[in-house]
Amino acid sequence: MMSDVAFIGLGSNLAKPVEQLENALRALHKHEQVSVQQCSHFYQSAPMGPQNQNDFINAVCKITTSLTPIELLDVLQSIELEQGRLREGERWGPRTLDLDILLFNDLTVQSERLVLPHYGMSEREFVLVPLFEIAPDMIMQDGKRLSIWVSKCSLAGLKRLGEKFEPESLTL
Ligand code: ATP
Ligand code: CA
Ligand code: CA
Repeated sequence: MMSDVAFIGLGSNLAKPVEQLENALRALHKHEQVSVQQCSHFYQSAPMGPQNQNDFINAVCKITTSLTPIELLDVLQSIELEQGRLREGERWGPRTLDLDILLFNDLTVQSERLVLPHYGMSEREFVLVPLFEIAPDMIMQDGKRLSIWVSKCSLAGLKRLGEKFEPESLTL
């Protein structure tokens, strides 16, 4: 039973980022223990950290899964590697693909490999805005509405693109 719900943040700023995100969504959905339910529009965002790199393309998707959180992290990291992610270079530097678990049910986890909810969510407009698009009624762990978090973040540097990945196209 794929009864657990998770939200995944996707990002890329190298090697055709839009295709990187589409391929990652397809790879995720192909996994027999993952079903992609919904995906936000793709957004273009100014890079966080080092500024001498391309803008990022970001999106957030909602999945159902029968994987444990750590198993899901393993799957995400293997998709990153398959799509040419190199684990080197500076923090927040350019990458072909970054897949983060933002939320997994309402779990709180603090382990060496996994922190849930994702620690950086509350300040990242490129996470909050696409998340809000697919989960507008979400209540966050501090009891506040996601809409309040969104209203507090800076939208400068964030642009919604035309691309929208429809889960129906995943059956192909
Ligand atoms: P940030 O974590 O600030 O978004 P990043 O995504 O560039 O930066 P990575 O190099 O992709 O960081 O990941 C570093 C480590 O973060 C991973 O090896 C993983 O074990 C750990 N990690 C902790 N919590 C999470 C999570 N919720 N989702 C994905 N990775 C996580
Ligand atoms: Ca990240
Ligand atoms: Ca990551």
